[in-house]
Amino acid sequence: MGTEVIDVLVVGGGPAGLTLARALTAGHPGLSVTVLEGAGRVGGKARTEIRDGYTFEHGPSDYTRNPEMVRLIEDSGLGDRVEVAPLRSLTRMAIVRDGRLLPTPRSPLGALTTPLLSPAAKARMLLEPLFARRPGPEGDESVHDMAARHFGAEVADRVVRNMLLGTAACDARTTSVRALAPALWDFERDAGRAGLLAHAVRSALRRRGGDRMRAPDVMHLVPGGVAALWERLATDLDGRVVTGAPAVSLEVDEDRRYAVTVTDGTRYVARTVVLAVPAYTAAALVAGMAPRAAEILRGITYSGLRVFGLGYRDDELARFPDGIGFLVPRGEGARMFAVAAVSRIVAAHAPDGHVLLRVFMGGSEDPGVFDLTRDEAVEEIRRDLRRFTGMTAEPGFVAEASDRRAIPRYEVGHAARLEQAEAALLEYPGLFLAGNSYRSLGLTATVLRAARLAPVVAERARRAARSERRPGPRGPARSRRGPSGTQHGPSETRSE
Ligand SMILES: Cc1cc2nc3c(=O)[nH]c(=O)nc-3n(C[C@H](O)[C@H](O)[C@H](O)COP(=O)(O)OP(=O)(O)OC[C@H]3O[C@@H](n4cnc5c(N)ncnc54)[C@H](O)[C@@H]3O)c2cc1C
Repeated sequence: MGTEVIDVLVVGGGPAGLTLARALTAGHPGLSVTVLEGAGRVGGKARTEIRDGYTFEHGPSDYTRNPEMVRLIEDSGLGDRVEVAPLRSLTRMAIVRDGRLLPTPRSPLGALTTPLLSPAAKARMLLEPLFARRPGPEGDESVHDMAARHFGAEVADRVVRNMLLGTAACDARTTSVRALAPALWDFERDAGRAGLLAHAVRSALRRRGGDRMRAPDVMHLVPGGVAALWERLATDLDGRVVTGAPAVSLEVDEDRRYAVTVTDGTRYVARTVVLAVPAYTAAALVAGMAPRAAEILRGITYSGLRVFGLGYRDDELARFPDGIGFLVPRGEGARMFAVAAVSRIVAAHAPDGHVLLRVFMGGSEDPGVFDLTRDEAVEEIRRDLRRFTGMTAEPGFVAEASDRRAIPRYEVGHAARLEQAEAALLEYPGLFLAGNSYRSLGLTATVLRAARLAPVVAERARRAARSERRPGPRGPARSRRGPSGTQHGPSETRSE
C-alpha cells in the first residue's frame, strides 16, 4: 500500500459525500479528508442546466428548509441566493380523474368536499377511529396498506397513491411506510387504538399555546440552481475533491486500513472510508469483504425517471390550470404522471413572459418509457397536455434529464434488511455508508444525516490513528456503531 494514509476517504461527491466532507473539515480540522467523485462534476443527482434563460433542475428542485441545509448554504456564502416558498404552495396541484382536472384536497375539510372521492369513501374516512382499532402489522407495511387500513381503499388509491407518485416518484403499494416516513410509523404507534385522526387532533390541542406545528418551507437557489451549492462546496474543499475518479475496488489489510482503487489505477489508503454512492455501487465495492452485506445492498432497486423541461410563452399556457400543475394517475392512459409549472414557484427559472413546465415520466410501473426516443417522449407529453388542458403549442425550449436508476425504492422490509446489512459490515468498523439509498430519500434529510455522521467518522478515524501509534496487540475490531452511524436496535435506526 502507498505511504500516505488519509484519515477519511469519502467515495462519492454527491450531496451526502460533500456535506460529510465539509462537516469533517470544518468541525475536525486535524483530519485529512479526500473525496473521490466518479463523474467529471460533483453534485450527483443535484444538477442544474441553465440555457436560453431557463434554469432546469435535473434532480432536486424543491428542498425543505431545515437548519442544517440553511447552515450549509450560508456557510458556503450562498445565503443571499436562497428563495423560500411555503410547502403548501407546492401542493396546489390538480389531479386527473376520468380525463378531467380536479383540485386535490389540501385539508381534512377539502377531503370531505372533493368530487375526487365517492360519498362512501368520505364516510369511511370519517369512521377512521373505529377501523383504527385493528392493529397494524408488527414489522412494516406499505404506505398504501396503512392508508387503506385507516381511511379506506379509495382514499389510498385515489389520493395517497397518486400524491406519493407525483411528489416522490414512489409506488405507495410497495413502499415501506417505516422506511419512507418513520415519523408517521411512530405517530401511528403513539396513536394506538385512538386512530390517526383523533391523535392528530389531540396533539394539535396539546400544542396550543406552544409551538404550532406547521409544514416546512421549501428552498431554491437563485441564480445558479441547486448545483451551485455543490460546486461551491467542492471549491471550498480546496483540492480535496478528485473528480473523474470512479472507485472500482475496496480492500482492507490486516492493519484495518482500507485501500480504494480508481479506474486509472490510483490507489488511496485510508483509516476510514465512507461509501456515499448509490447502494448498487456500494454493493460492488464491499462484495469481496462482506458478501452478505453486498447481497442486501444489491437488493435495493431503483426507479427510472425521464424528466423533461418544456418552455412556453405565458399566453400559450392560458388553458393550463391555476396552481402549480397536476398529477395523472396510472390508468388515465397517459405516459406522464406529473407536471409542474416550476417557474410559478421560482419566477427566475424561466425568462420574462415565459413558463417552464417540468414533466415526469417513468417510475417503477413504466420502465418501458426508456424505449421512447426523445422526440417520441415529447410527442407523448404534448398529446397528454392537449388532452388534459387543451394546450396545443409546441414548446420553444426542451431539456431532458434521464436516469434509469433515479430514485431508490424503499420497499416493505427495507429498514430491517438495512439493519442486517449493517450487522454484516460490523467487522469493518472504519467503513460507513451514507446517502439517500438508505434512510433519507430527499435532499435535505440526506444532508442532515450526512452531517450527523461526521463526528462518528471523525472519532473512528482518530481512534484508528491512535491505535496505530500504540505498540502491542490491537483492540477488538467490533464496534457498536453501525456503518451508517446508527446504534443497532430496532428503535434506534430511525431517519432524522
Ligand atoms: C429526478 C429527481 C428529482 C429529485 N427531486 C428532489 C426534490 O425535489 N427534493 C429533494 O429533496 N430531493 C429530490 N431528489 C433526491 C435527491 O436528488 C437526493 O436525495 C440526493 O441527490 C442524494 O444525494 P446522495 O449524495 O446520496 O446521492 P447522489 O446524488 O446519487 O450522489 C452520489 C454520487 O456518487 C458518485 N459515484 C457513483 N459511483 C461512484 C464511484 N464508483 N466512485 C466515485 N463516485 C461515485 C456519483 O457520481 C454521485 O456524484 C430528486 C432526485 C431525482 C433523481
